[in-house]
Amino acid sequence: GFGGWAFEGFSMLIDSHCHLNSDELRGDADALVRRAAEAGVGRMVVVGCDLEDSREAVGMAHRFRESGVYAAVGVHPHEASRYADGLPEALLALAADERVVALGEAGLDYYYDHSPRGMQRSVFRMHLEWAAAVRKPLVLHVRDAMDDVLSLLEGLEPGMRSSLKLLFHCYSGGLGYLDRVLGLGARCAIGGAVTWARSDELREVAARIPADRLLLETDCPWMAPKPFRGKLNEPSYVRYVYEAVAAARGVALEALAGQVEENARTFFGWGSSHV
Ligand SMILES: [Zn+2]
Repeated sequence: GFGGWAFEGFSMLIDSHCHLNSDELRGDADALVRRAAEAGVGRMVVVGCDLEDSREAVGMAHRFRESGVYAAVGVHPHEASRYADGLPEALLALAADERVVALGEAGLDYYYDHSPRGMQRSVFRMHLEWAAAVRKPLVLHVRDAMDDVLSLLEGLEPGMRSSLKLLFHCYSGGLGYLDRVLGLGARCAIGGAVTWARSDELREVAARIPADRLLLETDCPWMAPKPFRGKLNEPSYVRYVYEAVAAARGVALEALAGQVEENARTFFGWGSSHV
């Protein structure tokens, strides 16, 4: 529960994972950032999927800094085949930017298999070493690959494993993997799927994640919540995720918002002021 947490005033909402840099959203970025602010979203993390995309995420984090936009930089497993020889210097250099709060998204995707699995594993390992070296949190994308991701993480040298701050973005491991994920000290982010009719298990997961390990996100333009299913998602819709998760946990929206704001601050390391 949220016992002992003191709330003063209304907390901001946080979209911990969005793709304003996607083809679907970039042309509307100004309007989307404005609508997010109107919906109470005080911070957003724009996530990169390859070098070009990561550059754009960093550009947006600077352009919209007054609106609390930050960036994550990395290579999505879909793009791993283009980076199997190593992460380019230009990408590594982005991690030093003051607006970059995390690396990723990186991981394994055996559902789409857009890159050969061996290359996905190799590029994922590069991100683990990179995150340990620069001491930045790492945003994980895992689809139909929990066994391999968890074995890899559990097999790391203990010093390295404990130095990594991990976030399972769009957590999809169900109840079956939750204990192992939490055992790694990782955080879990829940997205729009928690609002969908058939997502009973995800709502159970959302109820069981310890209060201090929970983050919320849109993953826009994908994963639109129930009222907008099949349409483009956007950061302002993170409110629907908050409402569904608050209901699943049996807590007030404000209590959830305060806890998630604190969790995001602890994970991403940003200050308490907006910029
Ligand atoms: Zn994403």
